[in-house]
Amino acid sequence: MKLILLGPPGGGKGTVAKKLRAEFNIPIISTGVILREAVDKKNKLGIEVENIMRKGSLVPDHIVMEIIKERIKQEDCKNGYIFDGFPRNIEQANSLEKLNKELNEYIDYVFYFEIPFSEIIKRLSNRRVCRKCSTNYNLVFNPPKKDNTCDICNGELYQREDDKEETIQHRLEVFAKQTAPLKKYYKEKKLLKVIDANLSKNAFLAIKKILQGMHK
Ligand code: AMP
Repeated sequence: MKLILLGPPGGGKGTVAKKLRAEFNIPIISTGVILREAVDKKNKLGIEVENIMRKGSLVPDHIVMEIIKERIKQEDCKNGYIFDGFPRNIEQANSLEKLNKELNEYIDYVFYFEIPFSEIIKRLSNRRVCRKCSTNYNLVFNPPKKDNTCDICNGELYQREDDKEETIQHRLEVFAKQTAPLKKYYKEKKLLKVIDANLSKNAFLAIKKILQGMHK
């Protein structure tokens, strides 16, 4: 089962991806997580992308495609995967299609997370992330039990550099201009399912229902 979760930053893709991973036992491939790990490690890739990410712009396509090619070759991807935050523009979607053709693979569904921008701003500016296990919290809707501490692994919570208010607006503009056109792109390929993402629990249940129907 190969899935793409498509939607604006803060739309709940990461949270839903984790639930899908637990339900269907397939890995999440989050280009954002992989890139942030590289930045934390301060390796060559991390140094190259740090400033771009801090600004909330997109990392060059060739870098992202290298990451994807390497990752999907790994053993844990043989039964499928969940792309979270990839593809981010038409160029990446075309490269993915080409890659899949070479590998004789195909995407089963693209789930588009529909959510108003006003809601996203509330979510992103209050989001805190665990440094250790990358679980997301929201200081208003889903606060941790203990301040600045992850309920699951006791890791330290932090605010992503790109969740600061001045960057959020730019990320939403990047989304509207570069990523949102993928909705039409995948609709035309008959892969698109639009999901109401106002509540992440409902978004997960809606996706689960569609995927369970796939095997009937
Ligand atoms: P995310 O965690 O998906 O919100 O991604 C955080 C940041 O990583 C983005 O703002 C981009 O700078 C970069 N990034 C993640 N995925 C991609 C991608 N597929 N293409 C280009 N840049 C990406």
